[in-house]
Amino acid sequence: MKIDKENINERMVSPEEIVSDSDLENPLRPLSIGDYIGQEKVKENLAVFIRAAKMRGEPLDHVLLYGPPGLGKTTLSTIIARELGVNIRITSGPAIERPGDLAALLTKLTDGDVLFVDEIHRLSRNVEEILYPAMEDFSVDIVTGKGQMATSYHLALPKFTLVGATTRAGQLSAPLRDRFGVILRLELYSNEELGKIVKRSAGILGMTISDEGALEIASRSRGTPRIANRLLKRVRDFAQVINGGNVTYNIANQALNKLGVDELGLDSNDRRLIETIINFYGGGPVGLETLSAAVGEESVTIEDVYEPYLLQIGFLNRTPRGRSLTKAAYLHMGIEPPEVAFC
Ligand code: ADP
Repeated sequence: MKIDKENINERMVSPEEIVSDSDLENPLRPLSIGDYIGQEKVKENLAVFIRAAKMRGEPLDHVLLYGPPGLGKTTLSTIIARELGVNIRITSGPAIERPGDLAALLTKLTDGDVLFVDEIHRLSRNVEEILYPAMEDFSVDIVTGKGQMATSYHLALPKFTLVGATTRAGQLSAPLRDRFGVILRLELYSNEELGKIVKRSAGILGMTISDEGALEIASRSRGTPRIANRLLKRVRDFAQVINGGNVTYNIANQALNKLGVDELGLDSNDRRLIETIINFYGGGPVGLETLSAAVGEESVTIEDVYEPYLLQIGFLNRTPRGRSLTKAAYLHMGIEPPEVAFC
């Protein structure tokens, strides 16, 4: 989902796509599995499933990709289609409003095609119901007219592959989840992997960047390629103005500090969230809804955007009684941790 610049205060470290990313993302999107850096397990599994499907001359089983935004789910779906040598149609859960919209999409596919549905957890119930027979038997039942005039048509569909992407696998209904033959979880990237992504992107953008400069950008990108590419673009501006376009460790370091992104990739929004838990809830545990009201962010944003990274760097724990901070979070903020046992 693309966030509109006008409606949201653009966060440099938001993992979700913002308007200024679009011109950047297209040329930087890897087109082949060889260019797709990291996610080794996912790639290995997919390569086997793709090869087997091709050998059998059958469409690939339906694939569900899940994980936080900006990790490469859309990119991977286009690579899957490319490796299969088929066409891809890209849509999203919220864009398919009525069952008829989905039926129209499905009937336009040809055998073997990939239909990519981003944010698949946001499909409405009645659209989902059309999807069940489509995924299982490659058919749809369409009803036209109302009451006594209603007529039902049974249409055979081409044998397509559905690739669904979601940030929240837990929100998918069980019948939908069960219809995916392949379920793959994308993980946050290591700094080394992100460093490679930054170097690759810099090459495409015609920039010179040192290994240390690339690693500095990587280590502040919260495990997320989309953020790494965005920070690279900003650092490029600084480098252009003060260093003839060359990105060194010092340039990256200065630029990112100026942008308010600290050495772990946290910005003022993360720090506000952490400070709120410390100052108002003694470090936690605090319930998600309470926290959401206190910082003025929707609870889904806290869960999808803030938490994955804070959990990954060991700053936050999710307990049955709510969220609580770890000692490491206090130390990073330069605040003395309380004298209690941390979990
Ligand atoms: P998602 O669909 O999970 O939100 P995208 O597939 O749109 O994420 O990826 C965001 C951007 O990050 C892409 O434009 C691409 O340039 C970059 N990217 C994502 N994954 C990788 C990867 N594994 N290697 C290189 N670049 C990547």
